[in-house]
Amino acid sequence: MKQSLRQMITCHWSARRIQRYLDADPSAPLAPGEVARLEAHLAICDTCAKVAEEHRILHKALSRWSGAVVDDDAAVQRLQSFVDSLVEDEQR
Ligand SMILES: [Zn+2]
Repeated sequence: MKQSLRQMITCHWSARRIQRYLDADPSAPLAPGEVARLEAHLAICDTCAKVAEEHRILHKALSRWSGAVVDDDAAVQRLQSFVDSLVEDEQR
């Protein structure tokens, strides 16, 4: 009983960090200790490993979808010159 309560708390703790862990969001990074703790939990907990896997699939689908624009150098250049022209207009 004590073990399962502890497991529940760890699962709750992990669930709140899985998305940040997979997204590697630079504005909300996990501490190295948190990453190690989360990875250790994912290795032993089927429930959280499944949640992480679902997030990973979703994340891959999203990055493939948005990646078409981001990976395109010409599109980035166009966006850059568009932003530059906006800045120039404001300075006029
Ligand atoms: Zn868990």
